[in-house]
Amino acid sequence: MSRGRPEILFPLFGDLKRLEGVGPKTASLLEGFGVVHPKDLLFNLPNSVIDRRLVGSIAGMHFPAVATVEVVIGLHRPARAKGRPYRVLVQDAETEFQLVFFHAREDWLKRTLPTGQRRVVSGKIEIFDGIAQMVHPDYMLGVDEVDAVGEFEPIYPLTQGINQKAMTKAVRSALGLAPALTEWIDGNFLRDKGWGGWLDCITAVHSPKSLNDISPQSAPRERLAYDEFFAHQLTLAIARNVERRVTGIVTKGSGKLQQKVLKSLAFAPTSAQIRAVTEITDDMAEPRKMNRLLQGDVGSGKTVVALLACLAAVEAGGQATIMAPTEILAQQHFAVLNEMAKAADCSVMVLTGRDKGAEREAKLRALADGTAGIVVGTHALFQPDVHFANLRLAIVDEQHRFGVRQRMDLSAKGEAVDVLVMTATPIPRSLELAHFGDMDVSILDEKPVGRLPIDTVLVSASRLDEVVARLKDAIAEGRQAYWVCPLVVESEVLEATAAEERFKSLRALLGDDAVEMVHGQMSAQHKDAAMQRFASGAARLLVATTVIEVGVDVPDASIMVIEGAEKFGLAQLHQLRGRVGRGAVKSTCLLMYTGTLGETAAARLKIMRETNDGFKIAEEDLRLRGAGDVLGVAQSGLPRFRIADLETQTGLMKIAQSDARLLLSVDPNLTSERGKAARVLLYLMDQDKAFQMITVG
Ligand code: ADP
Ligand code: MG
Repeated sequence: MSRGRPEILFPLFGDLKRLEGVGPKTASLLEGFGVVHPKDLLFNLPNSVIDRRLVGSIAGMHFPAVATVEVVIGLHRPARAKGRPYRVLVQDAETEFQLVFFHAREDWLKRTLPTGQRRVVSGKIEIFDGIAQMVHPDYMLGVDEVDAVGEFEPIYPLTQGINQKAMTKAVRSALGLAPALTEWIDGNFLRDKGWGGWLDCITAVHSPKSLNDISPQSAPRERLAYDEFFAHQLTLAIARNVERRVTGIVTKGSGKLQQKVLKSLAFAPTSAQIRAVTEITDDMAEPRKMNRLLQGDVGSGKTVVALLACLAAVEAGGQATIMAPTEILAQQHFAVLNEMAKAADCSVMVLTGRDKGAEREAKLRALADGTAGIVVGTHALFQPDVHFANLRLAIVDEQHRFGVRQRMDLSAKGEAVDVLVMTATPIPRSLELAHFGDMDVSILDEKPVGRLPIDTVLVSASRLDEVVARLKDAIAEGRQAYWVCPLVVESEVLEATAAEERFKSLRALLGDDAVEMVHGQMSAQHKDAAMQRFASGAARLLVATTVIEVGVDVPDASIMVIEGAEKFGLAQLHQLRGRVGRGAVKSTCLLMYTGTLGETAAARLKIMRETNDGFKIAEEDLRLRGAGDVLGVAQSGLPRFRIADLETQTGLMKIAQSDARLLLSVDPNLTSERGKAARVLLYLMDQDKAFQMITVG
């Protein structure tokens, strides 16, 4: 089995400078444009097409428009003054118009366009001062040279220094190097779709004949999009295969501790929770490494699921860890889990950056000798001196704040540790497939019963006084509320300052005892104390920055005020709103906006008012903001597709995923006929890193 690039692709991976019209300068411009090999040019698809079919006359056309027409050259009217255009009158079969030139050399024009001769001219015609004009024609040819103009001309995305003609020439030349390739798409699927082979399709997309041919739904483009998805999913499937081949540890709990906790719960778990726990524990009991994503909207009850999974690890004589993205969340998880785990006589420990000196030493010892069964923590769990006696399960909460690397760091703390990633940001299906396609997925698609819908109201900040007055009444009635201060991008300090001010004014109105505050600039002790007073009900109002965005759980809080709501992303608003609506009282969310709302901002806030379904909101968010933003570009590691569109072609991605997994299940090393063809595809798509995995794994 060869690891090298397949020979058939050599020409497409050759030197750019061998292409027609590409010298060292163009080559380096192209490289800056991401075109390193001839094959990269093939994936630079035209984004428009010009119809250059010859017409008899421009009469009756709607201008501006590109026309290609045969004309008789009339009189020349040289520029009357510097900076004025040079005009040449021409006559087609029915009407007259003008060719217009700026800074033109008269002798050249006289030679090129002799009065009385026939010429074919092609270019954009516009009406100026009531006269039809073609400014600087794209083509001026003798009547017998008309074949030099293609009927349809693709228009390419360009980079500075390269014009359409050069780009077109280079692409044509690269196309000449493209070989016919053995089919890697499943035969039946290909027939169903009516797609042609790769070479036919790549040729067709560069020869569009109408705007329809530019559309992503055109058959050749769709096929090439599928190729991209398929290559990507093959890579993920290979990664998944390799991970699954790593022998994991069989972690099979007795269920005893789980039963004790379940019995002590104040509620019955939802069937989605039960299903998720079963999926997770079954997976842990397999002799291979678990790599699973638990998706559940805010308030769907992921914490219990996590605890039950941890207990399975403890029952089997091992340890489990839960990592939270913030100190507040780690402390809260600790408090909640420790309380629930008491029923099983299982102690939970917390380890964060706050632990220092002797206390930290003691905790590290408990982890190293195995006396600590479940540990909750922050990034502090990554420290090199943290050792586990027998770590079996690593749970990462609210994954979108963690990079993939950190996920790996953590599982490196124990051999073949089972990994469960929990996310509260519902991930649109398309992103889930692209980003987590190598993971198995459990979904909490059901909320605990008895949850009342949250009333969401938009109010202008100009009515702040009214809002505060109503808040005062509500608090007098015994309700608890959050007050979230405006988001200040990139500045936790400014954000904190805003919170401090709001905090002071609200304390003045509602009483010092009733109001607490948390923000990112406070010391851990102060944050804890404030959270503590709010959670216990001693304080009635919590002024906060977005530090409370994820996970905070105070079931009695039933009012959420979000100031400057127009500045937040939809997913973020949904997370914030998810802090209420957890208890027996009907909850309200006030979205306060400043000034007048722009169209998009209004549309976004309207969605918030209309639905409480995190998945719907995530889909909308994706539509309004684009994929990178939803997961956070920097750490998303989201693949960039050149042809395929993640947002509109989710269906194709799904098929690509199952087909890739299927192919690998019958041909794990890609050695069959189709497997070899798939290898060629992977090379073509720069996904050849996948092979290193095959050979290593
Ligand atoms: P999230 O999925 O947002 O992390 P949590 O685990 O914090 O949700 O749960 C939200 C709240 O719902 C908690 O107060 C929790 O005790 C409660 N809860 C969890 N499961 C159920 C259930 N099946 N029935 C009723 N309440 C539940
Ligand atoms: Mg949670």
